[in-house]
Amino acid sequence: MAERNLLVTGASRGIGAAVAVRAAEAGWDVAVHCRHERDSAERVAAAVRALGRRAIVVQADVADESQIVAMFAAVDAGLGRLHGLVNNAGVVDVAARVEEMTAERLSRMWAINLSGSVLCAREAIRRMGRSHGGPGGAIVNLSSAAARVGSPGLYLDYSMSKAAIDHFTTGLAREVAADGLRVNAVRPGIIDTDIHATSGHAGRLAAATPLIPMARLGTADEVAHAVVWLLSDAAAYVTGALLDVSGGR
Ligand code: NAD
Repeated sequence: MAERNLLVTGASRGIGAAVAVRAAEAGWDVAVHCRHERDSAERVAAAVRALGRRAIVVQADVADESQIVAMFAAVDAGLGRLHGLVNNAGVVDVAARVEEMTAERLSRMWAINLSGSVLCAREAIRRMGRSHGGPGGAIVNLSSAAARVGSPGLYLDYSMSKAAIDHFTTGLAREVAADGLRVNAVRPGIIDTDIHATSGHAGRLAAATPLIPMARLGTADEVAHAVVWLLSDAAAYVTGALLDVSGGR
């Protein structure tokens, strides 16, 4: 492809930031999305530019449809035609059993982790799909190893949202294959990022580590390499795949 423009959601830190930088190394120009953390996103964009690629920063709450639509318009204007989307933005709430969960908590979880990914995919398909006059492209969704095993007593709502992402990935892959679009998901195990600190799970990591066959947490970079491969032409015949990056967990 002559031009390769990528939008990475939640790219101000963690896995999203690593994807933005590794994608730039692989030749992608990158729209670095953030919700609030503009300064951090600008630092990621600077790292992309230092690799000789173009970068812009876009902001949106992915729980808000109108903000998603405006974000994609900003990508059109600032970067040009899109060729790739990484649905990375996501949240995990504080540990709770189902009998403690509220409708407000559940609505927020579905809105960010599920509807946000579906609506971003919708906007990307409208730009990348050949039936829309687009060049084709690739979507990678961030699922979780928790989608397979559930997370009883911790955050069953989160693992349910990621199981739905798996289902969305395999279904959408078949829906848009004839449109020149590939759709895959990466399922990280326990990755050393701030998501654990902000959700109060940091203390659990030490206890969880011995249960990982490779006996260590993963890094954001290790997930990013898998995402960038799935985006690339090297994965041209891969669609509907759910790729575990979990140290064997
Ligand atoms: P992180 O908390 O560092 O990053 C998540 C990003 O999503 C942040 O930049 C945050 O600002 C953004 N975000 C959250 N809510 C948003 C909203 N409403 N609108 C826009 N952006 C929003 O976490 P991470 O570990 O880098 O996780 C990235 C993805 O990987 C998430 O989807 C997460 O569920 C998934 N994942 C992480 C792990 C892990 O152990 N770290 C494991 C499996 C899956």
